[in-house]
Amino acid sequence: MLTGDDLIRKSALAIAAAVLLLFTGCGNDSTPAVSDSVKAKANISGEPQSISEFAMDTYMTVTVYDGETETALEKAQEEIKRLEKLWSVTDEESEVYKLDHAAGETVTVSSETAELIAFAQEMFSKTDGSLDISLYPIVAEWGFTTGEYKIPDNETITALLKNTDCSKITVDGCDVTLPAGMSIDLGSLGKGVTGDRLSQVLKDNGVTSALLDLGGNIQAVGSKPDGSDWKIGLKSPFGKDNIAKLEVSDKCVITSGGYERYFVGEDGETYWHILDPKTGRPARNGIISATIIGSEGRLCDALSTSMFVMGEEKAVELWRSMGGFDMILITDDGRLIMTEGLKDSLTMYDQYSYIKTEVISDKA
Ligand code: ADP
Ligand code: MG
Repeated sequence: MLTGDDLIRKSALAIAAAVLLLFTGCGNDSTPAVSDSVKAKANISGEPQSISEFAMDTYMTVTVYDGETETALEKAQEEIKRLEKLWSVTDEESEVYKLDHAAGETVTVSSETAELIAFAQEMFSKTDGSLDISLYPIVAEWGFTTGEYKIPDNETITALLKNTDCSKITVDGCDVTLPAGMSIDLGSLGKGVTGDRLSQVLKDNGVTSALLDLGGNIQAVGSKPDGSDWKIGLKSPFGKDNIAKLEVSDKCVITSGGYERYFVGEDGETYWHILDPKTGRPARNGIISATIIGSEGRLCDALSTSMFVMGEEKAVELWRSMGGFDMILITDDGRLIMTEGLKDSLTMYDQYSYIKTEVISDKA
């Protein structure tokens, strides 16, 4: 239970988080950031309140701007902890840990874990194998799980690749069987699903306006309390600021970027944490940042990782064939490609006006 003191402390934290979010949300564009945050506050009965929790290797912050708050925030915090316990790769009690250590045996898991694995398999097939939750041992070999980075030799990667390909996992109701030698991690879509779950928990508990920042994945619940869109900053892969702002309501904005987790090898090359399942090496297909905007966090998270891996041409093709979401790709030759639905909601910041922007339509 939250005590009164807790709430005071949490609301101080919330204001700091809210101001930070609205500032980061508007990058270096000095005008709208401050005035919007003031307007937002003026339109609600109390101050925004938030909770923060470290889970899935990142800080997750939930800020409620309008509606019933106390129970909703408590439940949201419980939900983050519950999902972390379910899908952690290191917690021996977690379902993913049990699957990863089952040595070919069948494990009965919760329906939500089974469904998520089945969904990951569906995305593996839709993305021509670009999203593969069974890459975990290779991600670990590169040191991305521990921060002890190294460049694995060819033989090691070739040997590890033999135990990948998540289409070989059997999901039969809640019974899941990984081939012996395979292990999975849900890092490429877990934060997205968490966003969906948290939005639901908040809405079920009377929240009408909230922002979730799940390690840079933004999920907006409703609109701002005054009914206008949230302004979300799109991080620049070229610097520490934002390249553009996006205006959205009731949607998530999920980015996969090569600049998020990487190291520079002794050879001077940059190696990042998103791997190409076909090579077991950092995906280098011309994209340095892929952002998906849509209503389902699970799908957007899976797609942001996949589009990064697939490269521009295949990504655009997949967008045209699937539809139902918007996309921003930033390429290593300095272009920003956006789908047509974003034409009126994306504004580039002045200092990035040199970036060539292209709008993609749903017809080739
Ligand atoms: P982040 O979690 O950093 O926001 P992503 O959603 O793109 O970014 O997920 C990247 C994580 O997923 C990596 O840290 C790694 O654990 C795992 N991963 C890397 N490449 C792939 C891939 N091709 N398919 C599935 N998971 C991947
Ligand atoms: Mg992802």
